[in-house]
Amino acid sequence: MPKEIKQAWEVPVQFLKGVGEKIAKQLANHEIKTFWDLLFHLPRKYEDRRKFYTFQEIEKEANSGNEVLAIGKIEAYTRRMAGRRRWSEAICRVDGHALHPLYLVWFQDYGGSIQKTYPAGTSVVFTGKVQSFRGRLQIVHPQMQKTESEKSPWEFGTIIPVYKEISRISSRVFRRVMYQALQREEFKSIPEALPESIKEEFQFPDLARSLSELHFPRSWEPSEDNGQNQYYRRVVFEELFMMSLALFFRKNNRKQEDKKNEDLVPALKIENAKQEKIISALPFPLTGDQKKVLTEIHSDMALAHNKQAMHRLVQGDVGSGKTIVAFLSMITAAENGFQSALMAPTEILADQHFRNFQVLFPERAHQAIILKGALKAKDKKEIREKLKSGELLYIIGTQALVAEATHFYRLGLVIIDEQHRFGVAQRLALKNREDQFIPHFLVMTATPIPRSLALTFYGDLSLSQIKEKPKGRIPIKTYLIKQRAQISLAKRLNELLKEGRQIYMVYPLIEESEEMDLKDVKSAFADWQKRFPQHQVALLHGRMKSKEKDEVMRQFKSNECQVLVSTTVIEVGVDVPNASVIVIEHAERFGLSQLHQLRGRVGRGAQESLCILVGPDRMSETVEERLNVMVQSSDGFYIAEKDLEIRGPGEFLGRRQSGIPGFKAAHILRDLETLELARQKAQEIIEIDPLLENPDHQLMKKMLMQWWGDRMDLTLSG
Ligand code: ADP
Ligand code: MG
Repeated sequence: MPKEIKQAWEVPVQFLKGVGEKIAKQLANHEIKTFWDLLFHLPRKYEDRRKFYTFQEIEKEANSGNEVLAIGKIEAYTRRMAGRRRWSEAICRVDGHALHPLYLVWFQDYGGSIQKTYPAGTSVVFTGKVQSFRGRLQIVHPQMQKTESEKSPWEFGTIIPVYKEISRISSRVFRRVMYQALQREEFKSIPEALPESIKEEFQFPDLARSLSELHFPRSWEPSEDNGQNQYYRRVVFEELFMMSLALFFRKNNRKQEDKKNEDLVPALKIENAKQEKIISALPFPLTGDQKKVLTEIHSDMALAHNKQAMHRLVQGDVGSGKTIVAFLSMITAAENGFQSALMAPTEILADQHFRNFQVLFPERAHQAIILKGALKAKDKKEIREKLKSGELLYIIGTQALVAEATHFYRLGLVIIDEQHRFGVAQRLALKNREDQFIPHFLVMTATPIPRSLALTFYGDLSLSQIKEKPKGRIPIKTYLIKQRAQISLAKRLNELLKEGRQIYMVYPLIEESEEMDLKDVKSAFADWQKRFPQHQVALLHGRMKSKEKDEVMRQFKSNECQVLVSTTVIEVGVDVPNASVIVIEHAERFGLSQLHQLRGRVGRGAQESLCILVGPDRMSETVEERLNVMVQSSDGFYIAEKDLEIRGPGEFLGRRQSGIPGFKAAHILRDLETLELARQKAQEIIEIDPLLENPDHQLMKKMLMQWWGDRMDLTLSG
């Protein structure tokens, strides 16, 4: 029997030459798990290494910052030392140039390993930036190999791809892995899923050809079109088309499903007068946007337009007042005798919601319950009974717990607050099959995705936006200072502490250099303890045990400690009104949207709050421009748009922030046109073949599941 060739998505990256366990793990963090995923990690740019430089040309490039590529012969080595610095130097002759050698320099070459690998007399090909230093030409840390070496043909004598580094995996490693991977059988037989008609219409080349050309250009000149060619469009189309197809497929599935179950969707209505009465009893008037969104929700839930369950996304900046909208919707459900579940991403947030509900609606408090922590069997039983009997109408908890408490009496509404995991919401909403009713479904998010992007990502949810802030908020004052101002900063903070304020000091903890960052926070913690001798300083980071974290948070909340030195673990949900100052160190390392979330921790009390961003002493223009957006604006949507403009959506939609899967190849802003086309074509296909049953569409369906199946909770059965 012939050996069956696997599909590229059935090949885990570890199986590829040059990918060890460690690299595989780092790649997995960036959603690169299979050979297929890797293929879509496209080069950032290209470098022309086809031409060797003459000595004269090398001389011309001295201090130009350009890399040169040359062949030379190593004549001799010297090892040097100056103070604590050590380095090795090789004298290298290019073109046998008699008078002037080129020096190749390596710092910290303690064992002399370079000399061992390339002994004097070896002919080498090398590349690097040329410096003219103290009257001589040198290249520090050249990339080099023996000329006779056929070992890495992907490095020299060709146009080479330059990849974006991720998790400390260098472009070189990607190059090596990719080159070898492209020789694999699975690549040669990579499936072509796009229908012929589409390929013809746009004159797309094959996918395999396109990928191969993009990784290692053979028949086009990167210098001419900078990668914006037919191959690129083909690959980007593939990605955007599959995503769009997944969205339409899911939307359609759900429509069919909902149609079948139309009788099971409850119509939840409330009389205007009654609602007005409830609202007027609140301690504050609703904003115009809150009212507008409530009307949208109520129209959905009353089945005013169609008989299908609501699927709505409410997007509103931090502090825009989404919770009250959720509560009022829950009350409407209750008024119709239906239960509702409000799920929060963390216990702290669930707690907060439950407490607020009790305070705002005391006469309904006895019908509310919070589900948190691991439930004891006995409690579980009791809760189940109460849920079944319909005694409990308002269920608040973390997602897992609410889902776990299963058997509802009549669940009419499911609300997910601060959805950070794309897909989870859908799974939960679709889950209640065994129940009597199909609940309405609402997601609330503070992730300020611009509308155009939101429609793309959440294409199958209706969108409501709360843009208006509640009245009477005191705007947060934001300042940008430099690292070297630490001393005056400490002085100022001491004054603020004397006024009785509490302070957050936030440090970045970035995955790439987690150990170092952690050390950073810890040493900063020690420093600040010294600088605030009169006050209690506490440390909080993600590696601490859950109990320790709780204890620190309790101390900070109760003002037993006044300064909280912390990593970004405080980003979501923490609410300490007396903390009115936030200092964000290394602000340049955060995304704007993340800074905005962090800043949202203050501005919650009666005092005017301060946000101090500490940037590097030497700030590039871009960094300064970016951080100044924070100083100038407190509008999350504006900030998000700016972030998008300056950094591009790849970064902006980083999974850590939004839970939205990023694209590997496509660049949403630049490829907006392709996105439109892809959406259009995907829609046409779903209209003709809603369940993708056409034999010609089988491969496409398979690949659809592969790309988006898990992430979008697509079910094949439809
Ligand atoms: P988010 O949208 O970030 O979830 P919350 O719902 O937690 O915001 O609201 C933030 C704060 O604003 C809460 O203390 C809430 O009671 C208050 N709030 C909500 N709506 C209004 C309003 N219309 N007027 C005044 N304060 C409001
Ligand atoms: Mg909230």
